[in-house]
Amino acid sequence: MRRAVCPGSFDPVTNGHLDIVRRAASLFDEVVVAVGVNVSKSRLFTADERLSMLQQGIAGLGNVRVEGFSGLITTYCREADAVAIVKGLRSGTDFDYELQMAQMNAHLTGVETVFLPADPAYGFVSSSLVKEVASYGGDVSALLPDFVLGPLTEKLAQRAAE
Ligand code: ADP
Repeated sequence: MRRAVCPGSFDPVTNGHLDIVRRAASLFDEVVVAVGVNVSKSRLFTADERLSMLQQGIAGLGNVRVEGFSGLITTYCREADAVAIVKGLRSGTDFDYELQMAQMNAHLTGVETVFLPADPAYGFVSSSLVKEVASYGGDVSALLPDFVLGPLTEKLAQRAAE
């Protein structure tokens, strides 16, 4: 049984994330989507909201589950008995950052990192850019699952009113 972990903050989950999760699920026996719940970073959505949107996103994928994690992803992988971390690569910038991270993680516990090239349809999609564009009224509906659009619009409106 080979288990992989797809880690991230998923603030919120995008179609780009879900594409990577689906492809990881076709390569490994089991995939755990690990949602970072460290309190240090400022997030638009709470950990519970991010977890719940991902639960909806993986509906129908029988070998995928969603869990929160805090601390080092390497420790989480060891506890979850995962052999690999799966990451999507959108660009050379992603690669430079992810290569260093993968090498550090391998140094820490020997866990492997598997890189999947982003689907070109989502190569320009990041949660942060989607939030920024949506906050100015841009149409991001093709880049997010339907069940994220409503909550995103509401959150951004709440934040603008604060
Ligand atoms: P973080 O906030 O930890 O940087 P994200 O939650 O934004 O991470 O993304 C988690 C991981 O998902 C990224 O490290 C990347 O591997 C992958 N990813 C994010 N967006 C895309 C995308 N559009 N296409 C492919 N992979 C993506």
